[in-house]
Amino acid sequence: MRSVAQVWTAFKAGTYDVLTTPEDKIRVGSFKEVRLGAWGDPTCVPIEQIKLITQESPEWYGYTQNWKQFPEFRPYLMASTCSIPETIEALKLGWRTYRIKPKDAPLMDNEIQCPYEKSKKRIKCVRCPTPCNGAGPGKTQKSIVCNPGGRSAHKVFLDKGEKEWLLDQKQPMKSSA
Ligand code: SF4
Repeated sequence: MRSVAQVWTAFKAGTYDVLTTPEDKIRVGSFKEVRLGAWGDPTCVPIEQIKLITQESPEWYGYTQNWKQFPEFRPYLMASTCSIPETIEALKLGWRTYRIKPKDAPLMDNEIQCPYEKSKKRIKCVRCPTPCNGAGPGKTQKSIVCNPGGRSAHKVFLDKGEKEWLLDQKQPMKSSA
């Protein structure tokens, strides 16, 4: 993936097309997969542009931490959440969620492990059976969980309340979608 500085330098040099018409924007995602917001939060882009870019795309992928402020992005993005209470809140608002959990912590009822991890990297996002593309009719409604990797893995942990919640799986946790 290109760095932000590389993209900015290329943009200043006029390397990128300027998309002015709706047709231009539809063409960006036409017949190809799109990653919404490879850098930065996709909710910085007006929703009308996201609708055009995904209009003819066979699949897209995107995440937002701004899900409370921008409910209109729910059919396009995953709510990126940091804790079990936050995940439950997003689910109740109809979002699909994406969170990182401690490696040995169990999943919640509505969650599945990211297929990329589960398949030991054989299934990539472009062939994913449960793509991270938001919530809505005709889409996978399961939420996605990943285990942390690398040197920061030990920094992902559950607090006491979350551990207690997981021990008491009877607590209701249904999405309103
Ligand atoms: S492979 Fe994992 S990260 Fe990629 S789209 Fe599927 S669930 Fe999302």
